Amino acid sequence: MFSRHVTKRLSAYCHGELSGAESRRVAEHLLKCDLCRREHEEIKTGILMAEQLPHVSAPESLWSEIEALLEERSRAVDPAVGRSFAAGARWPRFAIVGAALVVAVGMFFFYYLRSTGGSWSVTALEGTVQIGSNYTTGTGRLEVGELLVTDDRSRARIGVGLIGQVEVDPNSRVRLLEARMTENRLELERGRLQARISAPPRLFFVNTPSAEAIDLGCAYTLEVDDDGKGFLRVTSGWVALVRDGRESYVPRGAMCSMRPDVGPGTPYFEDVSDKFRRALELMDFENGGDEALQTVLAEARARDTFSLWHLLARVEESRRSLVFDRMVALVGLPSGVTRESVMRLDKDALERWKEELYLVWL
Ligand SMILES: [Zn+2]
Repeated sequence: MFSRHVTKRLSAYCHGELSGAESRRVAEHLLKCDLCRREHEEIKTGILMAEQLPHVSAPESLWSEIEALLEERSRAVDPAVGRSFAAGARWPRFAIVGAALVVAVGMFFFYYLRSTGGSWSVTALEGTVQIGSNYTTGTGRLEVGELLVTDDRSRARIGVGLIGQVEVDPNSRVRLLEARMTENRLELERGRLQARISAPPRLFFVNTPSAEAIDLGCAYTLEVDDDGKGFLRVTSGWVALVRDGRESYVPRGAMCSMRPDVGPGTPYFEDVSDKFRRALELMDFENGGDEALQTVLAEARARDTFSLWHLLARVEESRRSLVFDRMVALVGLPSGVTRESVMRLDKDALERWKEELYLVWL
């Protein structure tokens, strides 16, 4: 299914050494491939650790304790038994390296946990902010499980561990669900937040009543109204909206609506025509018929094959062939992708076509 795994590109990817298009391809592959994702988690953790290590140094007392312990252990080796002695003579060197590693890793986690403490820092930007059962006009900490609430005149900034920040607008309710090195997760119950994340993709998530927003290295605005309907607007990088197998990939300059009963709608660029946007909305959420589809197809520009590509998998076969024909008329069909493979929603074919289309879309 995944003909092009990205394991070989992961190190370069994590170090930001890939081109924009290549980096996006890796990010999207990671969304779908468990194998590459596991590898990515490991590399990411290693890099995070390496970045943090230079900032910490073990206290003097810890080192002398280790030295004392090592001395004691080496004296305990019985010199009367030659074989043990030979092994024992070599033992301390391994032990020192091993102990140093254990200390380094231990110190890292100690300082990481202390720096985040399983909680995130909160700064009230305006007005009074409620954190759990406390109120603050200054700073505080949001613990895992706690709710942050802004009223109609307050705003807050949340520090997302070491990887970014989130600004919470008035009339919002935001809960901290996870604050771990490899998973940072908020729940936006209602209101609006702006996230700016400068970390490898898939470290920061926001749950909403309609979909889960997965950060692929980006900045975005996410809002949820009183009915749980949501709206996403991406200003840099990519965000994936996911629910029940329904996925929308939203790049910078694009937006996407979502509904609790449907999940993420079809994403579109912010400069589409009003007719296009309205017809798309009818199709996504109001069982829009052939008329809505005809409007979408007629209004689509080459760049809007971005929306059409998402529609391919969301419409039944008779409509899919109409969407396909319009896409081919607008941007052609790359080699290696056939009408037949697209019509049966072959993953590889859809991926390949999407990769070819990045240049048109972005
Ligand atoms: Zn893979």
